[in-house]
Amino acid sequence: MAHPFSSGIQIPPLNWENFIRMAGRTALQWMTPPYCLLCHDQPESRNGLCHDCWHGLPFIRDPQCQYCARALSRPGICGQCQQRRPAYDSTIAPLAYEDPVNEMLCALKYRQHLSFARPIASVMVDAAITQRQKRPDKLCAVPMTSRALRKRGLNQSVFIARFISRALGIPLCASLLKKTRHTDQQSGLSAKHRQSNLAGAFLCRRRLDGQHVVLIDDILTTGATANEISKILKTAGAARVDLWACARTHPQHKLLN
Ligand SMILES: [Zn+2]
Ligand SMILES: [Zn+2]
Repeated sequence: MAHPFSSGIQIPPLNWENFIRMAGRTALQWMTPPYCLLCHDQPESRNGLCHDCWHGLPFIRDPQCQYCARALSRPGICGQCQQRRPAYDSTIAPLAYEDPVNEMLCALKYRQHLSFARPIASVMVDAAITQRQKRPDKLCAVPMTSRALRKRGLNQSVFIARFISRALGIPLCASLLKKTRHTDQQSGLSAKHRQSNLAGAFLCRRRLDGQHVVLIDDILTTGATANEISKILKTAGAARVDLWACARTHPQHKLLN
């Protein structure tokens, strides 16, 4: 098996401003003992968080739909997946998208607090192990357009995927997928526009004949993006596609960012 950080792994580019910010934070971390990333009050106990903050994370305790991870009153398949199964074969989304998960993800995405990738990835690794997920051949991450990547400075899903790859020893193929054009936030669109919004926006660069691929995303909202990418991965030959996200929004919840 190839080492997860072997050549071919795309390191997300950082612009100069983000590099200076990261360097400052790294220097500060060397000079101070590791304290919890959330409360800054207790010493770090597990993957950047203290004991209380880790156990206070909003884990979804209800049974979840085996295909889309929607919370259910009893184990099984949700009504939506009974009507139409998604292109992905199963989903992990262990946390509810609420405080402090939204703060952690926004800090990672928009303020380049890369340390948050560690607890976020750890939650996903724990879920993959406890839910006895089948071991995939490779990981990939939801891509951004090169323009969006230049503007933001990093792809948070790739960063999370790098930690998961290292923790589980599964190769990450960060360059597998390409996003070719901008798409609007799915949750704000009509059903008609949702389809045209995503059509042709992603491409897969390699054949995946018979392979089991896990797609890493940060937040699962409508699932439409993951569905579109999973279709493309299967067209490229993937035998199975699982979706691993950190958090799931409530079905009525609309993201503001
Ligand atoms: Zn804490
Ligand atoms: Zn479902």
